[in-house]
Amino acid sequence: RIRRRELGCRFNIESFTPSFLSIYKSLVPADEEIVKQKQLLVSLRKLVNKEWSSAQLHLYGSCANSFGVSNSDVDICLSIVDTNMSKSEILLRLADLLQKDNLQNVQALTHARVPIVKMMDPVTGIACDICINNLLAVVNTKLLRDYAQIDERLRQLAFIVKHWAKSRGVNETYRGTLSSYAYVLMCIHFLQQRKPAILPCLQELEATCVVTIDGTRCAYFDQVDRLRNFGVQNNESIAGLLWGFFHYWAYYHDYMNDVISVRTGRLISKRVKDWTRRIGNDRHLICIEDPFETSHDLGRVVDKYSIKILREEFERAADILQYDQNPSITLFEPYVA
Ligand code: ATP
Ligand code: MG
Repeated sequence: RIRRRELGCRFNIESFTPSFLSIYKSLVPADEEIVKQKQLLVSLRKLVNKEWSSAQLHLYGSCANSFGVSNSDVDICLSIVDTNMSKSEILLRLADLLQKDNLQNVQALTHARVPIVKMMDPVTGIACDICINNLLAVVNTKLLRDYAQIDERLRQLAFIVKHWAKSRGVNETYRGTLSSYAYVLMCIHFLQQRKPAILPCLQELEATCVVTIDGTRCAYFDQVDRLRNFGVQNNESIAGLLWGFFHYWAYYHDYMNDVISVRTGRLISKRVKDWTRRIGNDRHLICIEDPFETSHDLGRVVDKYSIKILREEFERAADILQYDQNPSITLFEPYVA
């Protein structure tokens, strides 16, 4: 494969910023949708607390991390200190309660990697997945939301990258491509690396939020309203950042040696993490360190076939941003096999 590596960004890249911004605005959910999600949560809390009085429900994932497009599924975590029931028994009991409460399409997936109950609320039309005691996901949701509040360019970049990934079929972990969570971490890391930086590294600052979950200490600076001016020295806008993001993943990232790490705000070496070889199903062909579960590589779903697809898609996107007449249209053209 011939790799084209451009010496510089096309001169008029910033002229595409208005069209990318209007795509971004069209993806952001309306306030009414957020209100409906909250209402659903309130009614589910009532239902759950009748059965388990001390249980708590938390929103997590894209409906709570501020990277959700409109009509996303709602992810909810049921936090419960039980009792004598296994996770599967809790899920089955929960499914039963939901069904009796007239929620639709209730399904308990007790054998999934992350066991959940799926359902649909006929009143709001919202589809919802409920998992049990997945509190690390609740905390990493808050970390992402806090990063989003520092500089609006993060949300702009991540919405466009997620939209591109969904359009091109490379946001499907069951097919070996990356999760939305992984793409958002890639965007945060990219903005931490800009010169001057657009985002700080919250885990390197004095910890103001500290929790320990299943033995994993999660600590970072969460007073983000004090960081609102962090990125002002950098005046890049969304089109230039997208160019930089895709060129980085197409032509500059060192897939052999490097791990991107939001935790440190830097690249770290695969050798240090012992991610240089395949262990079981973990191939480490693209390495994205989870900010809290640091032994966890979010790129582990990627295999030798899907890495090729992914890199070709990064190159396609990079080339479109460099040469195409209408990058804000061509970038999202659906992939047809
Ligand atoms: P989408 O808009 O595509 O639904 P999402 O933000 O809900 O995006 P998912 O990838 O569906 O993203 O993940 C939901 C949440 O689950 C994430 O926000 C994250 O908190 C958690 N999560 C997902 N994958 C992982 C993972 N591999 N390790 C740890 N947490 C994860
Ligand atoms: Mg989701």
